[in-house]
Order: sequence, then C-alpha cells, then structure tokens
Amino acid sequence: MADYDYDLFIIGAGSGGVRAARMASTYGARVGIAEESRVGGTCVIRGCVPKKLLVYASQFAEEFAWAEGYGWSVEGASFHWASLIARKDAEIDRLNGLYLQTLRNNNVTLHEARAELADAHTVILTRNGHETGRVTADKILIAVGGWPAMVNIPGAEHAITSNEAFHLKAQPKRIVIAGGGYIACEFAGIFNGLGSHVVQLYRSTQILRGFDQDIRDTVAAEMRKKGVDLRVESPVIERIDKRDGDLLVTLVDGSTIETDAVMFAIGRAPNTQGLGLETVGVETNDVGAVLVDEDFRSSVPNIFALGDVTDRIQLTPVAIAEAMAFAATQFGGVPTFMDYRDVPSAVFTQPPVGTCGLPEHEARDLYDDIDIYKADFRPMKHTLGGASERTMMKLIVDRQTDRVLGAHMVGLDAGEIIQGIGVAIKCGATKAQFDATVAIHPTAAEEFVTMRTPVPRLKQAAE
Ligand code: NDP
Repeated sequence: MADYDYDLFIIGAGSGGVRAARMASTYGARVGIAEESRVGGTCVIRGCVPKKLLVYASQFAEEFAWAEGYGWSVEGASFHWASLIARKDAEIDRLNGLYLQTLRNNNVTLHEARAELADAHTVILTRNGHETGRVTADKILIAVGGWPAMVNIPGAEHAITSNEAFHLKAQPKRIVIAGGGYIACEFAGIFNGLGSHVVQLYRSTQILRGFDQDIRDTVAAEMRKKGVDLRVESPVIERIDKRDGDLLVTLVDGSTIETDAVMFAIGRAPNTQGLGLETVGVETNDVGAVLVDEDFRSSVPNIFALGDVTDRIQLTPVAIAEAMAFAATQFGGVPTFMDYRDVPSAVFTQPPVGTCGLPEHEARDLYDDIDIYKADFRPMKHTLGGASERTMMKLIVDRQTDRVLGAHMVGLDAGEIIQGIGVAIKCGATKAQFDATVAIHPTAAEEFVTMRTPVPRLKQAAE
C-alpha cells in the first residue's frame, strides 16, 4: 500500500461521518476527519436535536391548559424566546463537546477545515478560502450531508430556512411557512405552540406526501384544530417585499400575506458543490447526490459516500447504520449490507406521527389481498384534559401470509410507540402474533394488539 497519511479520511463530521470514524478507528484504521462547521452535523447542531427541544418547549401551553382539567391552576405562565434559545444553545454546545471527545477518545484526527478533493487520494484543506494543508488517504468517505433548498425569487434574502429558525433574535408574531414535508409541518407546530400565528402554504393536495393517507389527513385536521392556518393546493410564493417592520408575501395568484417571517422548508439538497467531485470523476445524479453501490462505493473505487449526501433515506439513524456497515465491511473484515426495508420514522408534528413499513397505497400496489385495521379514539389523557385531539392507529396486513406490512400512528407518543412495533415488523411478525401479545392497560399502544376486526372490504373500496 502507498504511504498515505491516513487509512481513511472522512469529509464531514455529522452523524454518519463521526460514527464511521469511530468504528473504523476501533477496527485499527488511522482516521482523519474534516469539518468546516461544527462537529455533530445537521442532526446535533441544526436539526433533530434542537428541533425536538423546541417541540418540547412549544407543548407547554397546551399542557398548562390540560392541567386545569386535572385540578391544577396554572396562572401567570409566560414564555421567553431568548431564554429558550440560550438554553437550547447550551445543550447543543454540550453535545458538540461530547462529539469532539468521541473523536479524541478514538484517536481520530480532526481537521477544522473545508475539504476538497484534489485527486482520488488527496484532499486539500482550506480555511476562509486559504489552503491550510493537504492530506492523503487510502480511502476517502464523503459524509457531507445536505443543506436546505431555497427558491430563487425576488426577496428570497428576507426568508429563512430551518438553519436560521433556530437562531432568530425574537420570536415572530406571524410566520409563513412554505412546504408540506417533515420540516414545514414540525416547525408549523413549534411556532403555533409558542403562540405565533402560522400560515403554512403547501402546493399539493395534502401534506406529508408519501405517508399513509390516513396519517396525512389526521395530522392536517389536528394541526388546523390547534390553530395552524394550513392552506393546501396553495399558489406558491412569487416574491417577498420588506416594508416598514414587516414582510409582504405575494403568491403567484397575486394574493398577499403580511407577516413577520417567511420560512422555506422545501427539501434538502446534497451538499456536494465545490467538493471537487467532478475533478476526480465521482458521479452524481441530477440533484447532486453521490451515486454509490451497496458498499457505499462511488464511481471512483476508493471513494465512498453515505448519509444524506447520497439522498436515499435522509434520516440520522440510517446514516449511522450505513456508517456501521461501511466500517465493518472496509475495516472490520465483515461484509455488511444496509437493509433499507421497514425503516421506522417519526414526524414531530403535534400530535406526532410514528410509522413503520408500507403505507396502504404501497401495500395495495405490492400485494393482492390486504386487510386494514384502524382505531380512532380520544386518548385517555384528554378526557379530563379536555382536548378534542384524536389518536389514529392503523395496521396493514397481508391476508395471504398474515404478516403485518405496516403500522402507522398519529397521536401522543407515536414515535415512542412505533419504535417497539418496528422490531416486530422487522422480525416479520404476523397479525396473529400481534393478537397473541398481551396488552398493557390502560395505554394507547395497546390498541396495536387489540384491533380484531378489519375495516369491511366494501368500506375500504369506497374510501
Ligand atoms: P421534504 O422532502 O420532506 O418536503 C419538502 C416539501 O417541500 C414538500 O412538501 C414539497 O412539496 C415542498 N416543495 C418542494 N419544492 C418546492 C417548491 N419549489 N415550492 C414549494 N414547495 C416545494 O423536505 P423537508 O425539507 O421537510 O425535510 C428534508 C428531509 O429531512 C426529510 O425528507 C426527512 O428525510 C428529513 N427530516 C426528518 C425528520 C424526522 O425524522 N422527524 C425531521 C426533519 C427532516 P411536494 O410534496 O409537492 O413535492
């Protein structure tokens, strides 16, 4: 082997990069990693973690209202945005420190620099546009993640993305959120819960495209009940004009909305610009995602990529699982493949979504004969709490094999509940095995093992 500085050099110290670094080092590799921003990546610094903290913060107003139904009087409660942001930042600093420590403890050399490929084995490191060094490596892993997409319209500079939403100096009293995916729906819930007036503009027929239709309809209905002004089949934003103290949003149909902030949550694009991929011949697709095979190998045999930059399933635990498989295969001598089936996920809307396996429309495409089981009820907490919020649960079963193909839920603790159901689905559990599982009473989760009667066929056909 040529005399390289490292056995593995990783570009990007997010969830996937850090895990690959740690595991490769554990297998004995000499590992270097470059990060131009903060170690921890999207999930820790400007994604999952700060988002979940803001979700928690935004739920208290409702909790205080529900508490009164339980005999509590909650008077004088008030909310301070700056205090929340400061405390959230402190927690992110703490986690960033833990990630740095993980790299140190595993003898991974951190280069706080931007990295660009010079050739298949050489990386140029720069800071503030100036070259600070070059390193060589036998294998290179691209784990640079993604970045919020933005539209090119007049006044786009007045809009924010999720990146900036975490650092606003003041809470907007009114906000317009464009998009109907995970981020738009989660932030609509956050700002609405904190008391902002939220207008959410979604261009197609129903939010959360790709999810089970019952999930989409239930979330949309509950978001509206809580006060989000959710407008589907909305004209998209044509321009944003700054006026004295506020923003004027003009839609393509000429209608306008006055607001204090505009947020675009319209997808995340692979962060591959300026990485030198063309220079070394790493192939990308039309959105800039690195094309890789089942070993995460790109079109250049010693260059690999995983996580959001490959634009397959943009979820932290997927990137981590990919990193484990990559390190085991390349450095542990144990060829390991990533299984992308039945990946559970949650959307931290209010109420949240938990889902695993096939949505009904996909199950119908793939299987001849399926049964649908559904439960829709007001959770016990709301009986005294007084909320009208519903919980919806759904199982999709293959009639021929009795296997549970999908489990979906909207309601309190959905993410927590679906994680366990995900194990059963991964194990190929049948509906009979769900039924043979003794319920935990009284919980909402027990509905998943007590749904006995499928939705009648005629009703299914009519829906
Ligand atoms: P998504 O891909 O989930 O949603 C993008 C949304 O923007 C869609 O509703 C899409 O509409 C809409 N859109 C796209 N382009 C335009 C446009 N030009 N004008 C108006 N609307 C547009 O992206 P997100 O940004 O919400 O999130 C990115 C990814 O991050 C997610 O896919 C998810 O994998 C991950 N994520 C996961 C979370 C979790 O696990 N809880 C939380 C946050 C993010 P249409 O449907 O019509 O295409």
